[in-house]
Amino acid sequence: MSTETLEFKTEVNQLLDLVIHSLYSHKEVFLRELISNASDAIDKRRYESLVNTELIRSSEDGKIMITADKVNGTLTISDNGIGMTRQEIVKELGTIARSGTTEFLKSLKDRDIKDNPELIGQFGVGFYSAFMVADKVTVISKSALAKDDTAIKWQSEAKGDFTIEDTQKPAIGTDVILHMKKEEENFIDEWEIKTLVKKYSDYIAHPIVMEVEREKDSSLDKSKKVKVKEEEVLNSMKAIWLKDKTEINEGEYNEFYKHISHDFSDPLKVIHYKAEGTSEFTSLLYIPSMLPFDIYFDKFKTGTALYVKRVKIMDNCEELLPKYLRFIRGVVDSSDLPLNVSRELLQNNRQVDIINKNLTKKVLDTLGDMKQKEADKYEEFFKTFGKVLKEGVHFDFNRREAIADLLLFKSINTDKDKFIYINDYIDNFKEGQEEVYYITSTSVAEALSSPYIETFRDKGYDVLIMLDDFDDIIFNNFEYKGKKFKSVVKGDIRLDNKEEADKKKETTQKYKKLIDMIKERLIDDVKDVRLSGRLKDSPCCLVSEENALDPAMERLLMTMGKEVPKSKRILELNPDHPLIVAMERVFNDNATSERLNESIKLLYDQAVLLEGGKLKDPAAYTKTVAKLMAASLG
Ligand code: ADP
Ligand code: MG
Repeated sequence: MSTETLEFKTEVNQLLDLVIHSLYSHKEVFLRELISNASDAIDKRRYESLVNTELIRSSEDGKIMITADKVNGTLTISDNGIGMTRQEIVKELGTIARSGTTEFLKSLKDRDIKDNPELIGQFGVGFYSAFMVADKVTVISKSALAKDDTAIKWQSEAKGDFTIEDTQKPAIGTDVILHMKKEEENFIDEWEIKTLVKKYSDYIAHPIVMEVEREKDSSLDKSKKVKVKEEEVLNSMKAIWLKDKTEINEGEYNEFYKHISHDFSDPLKVIHYKAEGTSEFTSLLYIPSMLPFDIYFDKFKTGTALYVKRVKIMDNCEELLPKYLRFIRGVVDSSDLPLNVSRELLQNNRQVDIINKNLTKKVLDTLGDMKQKEADKYEEFFKTFGKVLKEGVHFDFNRREAIADLLLFKSINTDKDKFIYINDYIDNFKEGQEEVYYITSTSVAEALSSPYIETFRDKGYDVLIMLDDFDDIIFNNFEYKGKKFKSVVKGDIRLDNKEEADKKKETTQKYKKLIDMIKERLIDDVKDVRLSGRLKDSPCCLVSEENALDPAMERLLMTMGKEVPKSKRILELNPDHPLIVAMERVFNDNATSERLNESIKLLYDQAVLLEGGKLKDPAAYTKTVAKLMAASLG
């Protein structure tokens, strides 16, 4: 087949643009990325040859070869891994298959990522990092899965397109040839390469080999030296997780994290843990310090890498940790699983279940420890990953209280920059208080000015402020140590003492006729009208029934295009508010007064606005308000 020219997808061009023009400060990571790809390819070939017996060519010992050619100005990274077919090479090196990529890259452009390269670190520039140092990259690959003997050549100068053509390559695997930029030729230096491999890729389990020139005694004349070329293995291949904790320093832990995560920033926490007994495994887990931009997307790669007896099985094994801990990165090395363990087998495997249980406990315990001993660091963790962790309250029934213990909340009585734990909230229950009150809101300020908390504040009750979209789904019906969570925007609220309750009965009697009339007028919009137990300063509010969907949740679902059953709300009135008192007076004078009628409509519209809803007829509302304002101004 002749040469074909194909365009990069938009997001690839965007990424290349950032990589080439903004990432100067971290150029050297290109080698780490290419070696990491070579190593992955070797692991994949080995794994496939065990699991997928259709694979024609079996695996040989993995080897990564670096060839520095100063004469031609090229640096080549070769592997004998799985290789790529024509189709694969077009897809893998021409597109980016991560949800939200375009939005993320766009958002980066506006910021100064030259000073904050770690922002792109969370993306993992991968293969494209080659273009930081090379103005042309040639990839020659022969797939272990190919039926015939052809190889494929991919080539690009990162100017919007790439070419592919058939070619010849004797061995299976991939050569990545970097035609180095003039100013980056220092990377072709033997010593430089050795240093970089030691620094970033020492843990790679396959030998990274380079041909080096050595001076040796001549065999003919012992007094003379001759130059010979020899292959030298540059990495120690030691699995860091198998070393003893005391043998590893922080720098090594951090470098390994960067190697597996492709992150540019240091991790927030290292969890190095060996399990012995019913299950034998070693794990080296990390809590990153930055939130991956795509963590809320379905396609987000969950899970740590899985090794069996030091051999890598896969990069992201979803079964090792629950989804609500998907921010954890790291490796798990099991001694019990078979080497040819398939993905299907992992799903219902007792050993895997035990590992999952163990690791979950270990991570939650570590977080608990951090919360106690490193409060500031914990707060930092929680601000980044708390929302993800919180999912566990909903999905992990058995650990829901343990997870709730780890959550930080804002509340109406908590200082602006502070958080409280659920335990503290319960310790400060008012006498007779039985439920944990919460309000869902988009900001603390909004919650604090909400009419729904007026009486709570007045009577000295605290109310938790829930700021994340899905909080109501998580906490509606949640019970913590026998205490039920209750949303202050739903159901009836009774905070009155006996005396107040008696008085309320009386007031209800007094307002009965007015309430009945309002109910009749608003029959299409509300389900019921009643006097409120939660209002202090506002005249009215709308509330949902105890088990109804939270109004904020309703709106969220609607913006997501979901069908939401329309539920009518209950209109609550504050009998102590001058407006309600006045309405009652007018009602007694003339129940059919046009002004009273207008007031009822306005009252309802105000309640809709207060809960953050949209008016059905904003024009009519404004007209009436303007009329009233004009009248009051004389
Ligand atoms: P990642 O490694 O995170 O998937 P990269 O940008 O580093 O992302 O690489 C993209 C893809 O290109 C890899 O997933 C792999 O499928 C393919 N690839 C890159 N280098 C090689 C290689 N040396 N051998 C086989 N496939 C490779
Ligand atoms: Mg990669």
